[in-house]
Amino acid sequence: MRFTKIINARIITPHEILKNATLVVKDGKIDEVFTGAIDIEAHIIDARGNFVSPGFIDIHLHGGGGYDFMDNTVEAFQQIAITHAKYGTTAMVPTTLTSTKENLIKTLETYELTTKTHYNGASFLGVHIEGPYFAMSQRGAQDPKYIRLPDADEYNEILNRFPFITRWSAAPELPGAIEFGEVLRKKNIIASIAHTEALYADVIKAQAVGYSLMTHLYSGMVGVIRKEGFRYAGTVESAFLLDDMDVEVIADLKHLPAELLQLVYKIKGSDCMALITDAMRAAGTNVTSSKLGSLEDGLDVIVEDGVAKLPDRLSFAGSVATTDKLLRNLVKNVSISIPEAIKMLTVTPARIMKVQNSKGKIEKGFDADLVIFDNDFEIKNTIVGGEVVYQKF
Ligand SMILES: [Zn+2]
Repeated sequence: MRFTKIINARIITPHEILKNATLVVKDGKIDEVFTGAIDIEAHIIDARGNFVSPGFIDIHLHGGGGYDFMDNTVEAFQQIAITHAKYGTTAMVPTTLTSTKENLIKTLETYELTTKTHYNGASFLGVHIEGPYFAMSQRGAQDPKYIRLPDADEYNEILNRFPFITRWSAAPELPGAIEFGEVLRKKNIIASIAHTEALYADVIKAQAVGYSLMTHLYSGMVGVIRKEGFRYAGTVESAFLLDDMDVEVIADLKHLPAELLQLVYKIKGSDCMALITDAMRAAGTNVTSSKLGSLEDGLDVIVEDGVAKLPDRLSFAGSVATTDKLLRNLVKNVSISIPEAIKMLTVTPARIMKVQNSKGKIEKGFDADLVIFDNDFEIKNTIVGGEVVYQKF
């Protein structure tokens, strides 16, 4: 049996913040959490009075550290997981971009290979396929060459071959998108609404067959529109109106200003709102030019003002955020309490990804995915499955 104990900790549990607390990890799981000390033989990590929180769960990102998942190398997958672990991410959902079927299959094969290797970084919670079934008018930085209508032969082949797909983003108003949603529901895959012109009636139909999440709310979707004088609630208002619809937001303060983050929080609350980075290759680097998507086939982008942009500067091309930044932004700029902001990076994304019984909380029996950070939200230590994967002290 292997024990680790984290001492002198300010532990963020689902109910409270415990001061001068100790957390005992046994065989990769959380074993005990209490105020005070205990005398057992264990590897000791002194938290020095810093916060100890459940590790952050990023359910939508494309890359970081100079790599994109669609580079289709094991090295890229590992390096992205290692890079983001330095910023507090302990679990992530690798996300693809709109691409050819062949390229998508290569990415999925590479994921499978990577899960058989060992590396010191965040773990993976399956793959999120973003596209290619999107509305052209709301494509954002998704390559228009590859945007297409739902194709049952294509998605059935992919779904049957790769059982670890856990999430798929599509525009539900497209012909064939409702049937696609039904297939996803049968396979217990999260269907997410994205890059879409869906109005309220479309969203209702989509929800009825299982679409349960809005991909980067506000980005790549419509708000209220008018047709011949009549007003229609857009995708965004539908998300607000439907209690059972979860949302994720890119909380980098670039894609959405503080007041819109506040509005989403006010309406959806921390139970239904997850924070994501949607990070691209340049996250965790200092480069000023980069590529969105694969090195050979991706789109050139510039990195300035703390965000990636298409060269015409008319739209964003992903964020360069890391999860520590999302937390800092919400607490310092959106006036959200630390436990509430943490919840949107842990409990809520864990529930959305259906891993709420093993991840997202500091509670006995849960995976020992933990992050230690100071009052400025600077990451000091990241632990995945009881193993230290990053440490600053
Ligand atoms: Zn994305």
